[in-house]
Amino acid sequence: MTAAVGIPPAVTEETEAFWSAAEQGRLVVERCEACGTESFPPRGMCPSCRGRSMAAAEITDRGRIYSFTINYQRWLPDLEVPFALVLVEFPEHPGVRVFGRIRGCAPEEVAIGDEVEVGFEPGPGGFAIPSFVAVEGAA
Ligand SMILES: [Zn+2]
Repeated sequence: MTAAVGIPPAVTEETEAFWSAAEQGRLVVERCEACGTESFPPRGMCPSCRGRSMAAAEITDRGRIYSFTINYQRWLPDLEVPFALVLVEFPEHPGVRVFGRIRGCAPEEVAIGDEVEVGFEPGPGGFAIPSFVAVEGAA
């Protein structure tokens, strides 16, 4: 495992469920109890109907790379570069897009549409942060 990267996240009432699930390696998003819309990141409010009754919903599906960027900047001394940061969408969960590092493949092999498994890695401040694993042979 590589060292923590970045600044510790702010844990708020809205994001607490996400961070505690992340510690157990689970991806939890918000689902509106009124209209069923799922969203991420958590905001405590439904982006669709503006309802404020949000429940936690776990996502276990594979995601798909929606976009990515390759970072070459060594902004921390122990940061291994380059690495790819990907924005991942979930076909079954249209309101959910999650950003994180990808592991298990070279940055130049990352392509939009590739399938990834959701994972986590140790992040700043002891938090587990999303990081994805490329699914071999998919795409
Ligand atoms: Zn709603």
